[in-house]
Amino acid sequence: MWDVAIVGSGPAGASCAAFCAAAGLRTLLLERAHFPREKVCGDCLNPTCWPVLERLGVAGEVRAVPHGKLSTVEFIGVDGRSVAAPLPSGANAEIAIRRSVLDHILLRRARSLGAEVREGETLLSVRREKQWEITTTHSQVSAAILVGADGRNSTVARLCNLMPRKGRDRVALQTHIPLQQDFGDRVVLQLLREGYSGQAPVGDGLLNLCLVSRPNDLSKIKSWAEQKFAIPCDHPWRTIAPLARAALPASQPGLLLVGDAARVVEPFTGEGIYYALRSGELAAAAIVARNDQQYGRAHERLYAGRLWINALARAAVEHPRLTSNLLRFLPNERRLLRLLTTKVVRP
Ligand SMILES: Cc1cc2nc3c(=O)[nH]c(=O)nc-3n(C[C@H](O)[C@H](O)[C@H](O)COP(=O)(O)OP(=O)(O)OC[C@H]3O[C@@H](n4cnc5c(N)ncnc54)[C@H](O)[C@@H]3O)c2cc1C
Repeated sequence: MWDVAIVGSGPAGASCAAFCAAAGLRTLLLERAHFPREKVCGDCLNPTCWPVLERLGVAGEVRAVPHGKLSTVEFIGVDGRSVAAPLPSGANAEIAIRRSVLDHILLRRARSLGAEVREGETLLSVRREKQWEITTTHSQVSAAILVGADGRNSTVARLCNLMPRKGRDRVALQTHIPLQQDFGDRVVLQLLREGYSGQAPVGDGLLNLCLVSRPNDLSKIKSWAEQKFAIPCDHPWRTIAPLARAALPASQPGLLLVGDAARVVEPFTGEGIYYALRSGELAAAAIVARNDQQYGRAHERLYAGRLWINALARAAVEHPRLTSNLLRFLPNERRLLRLLTTKVVRP
């Protein structure tokens, strides 16, 4: 009998497991993959993550492993016009780090604090009796509290009948390619007729390349990238969908959802890892306090006052040509983009 069973060891699950284990709870972390594993992501670590990483005791390790330092964000319109905005510098700088590296550090931290981490175990079913009866591909366990940290296509949410019906949405492609020597220490967010692309150096001579488009435009946007970055057509890409879906109730008695499982945000602003880490921490605090409702309220506060900018970004990237034209004619477009950037990356 576990105090808490957490499904999924991305930043949300690993953070929740680490804080639960540190507080002395019998903590089980179930993860279907074997780490280190990659994940479809722009790999950018918003400066707001640093305080959580400090409290987890891994900030030093994250700073020490290969990563790309990002001093500016460059927005490029469909017409090729570009505007750059500075990013925070110093210890709280924005960096780009491969998810195979970041997530492995977090998983190891949860394990070192006393969580039992079972890799290669996929959740199959859950049944609610007095406690949760959880079946995976390898074992059957009981737990007082169940935490769904299994991402945007959460099996926990689906098994608990919480998942909304899938609509038609955009698709993301992601890969790592050799970094061009003159790329510089910038993250590029480029609007394209077919959607958008994100590009960021992640260290070890690699560039993270993300493409987002409607399914019908996927082959066109992929051809654009293959041509621009001289990528062979048999190069492997990772893919994920949907990019947007309705938010789910983050807390119910005995059941908490953290990270993308609870709420998915538009990737363009690069905040998902922060929400995952912090919601994992908030969920752990509520579990330790035996107060599920505390998490529900804290989860709402986490997003309050921040979501409008994400919604604005989504509207902008869903209409790339209109956005590019608007920016061309807007007075003070440089100031506006700098202001919006500061709002997203404020520590
Ligand atoms: C194209 C794109 C670009 C992005 N770029 C950025 C960015 O630059 N910066 C940023 O901060 N955010 C970015 N995001 C968002 C970010 O990737 C997510 O918000 C973040 O990964 C959420 O973390 P999580 O722990 O909730 O879920 P995940 O990271 O998805 O982790 C879920 C874990 O659960 C496991 N799992 C799933 N199902 C099961 C199961 N049935 N049983 C057991 N385990 C299971 C998975 O293997 C996985 O390890 C981007 C997203 C996309 C799609």
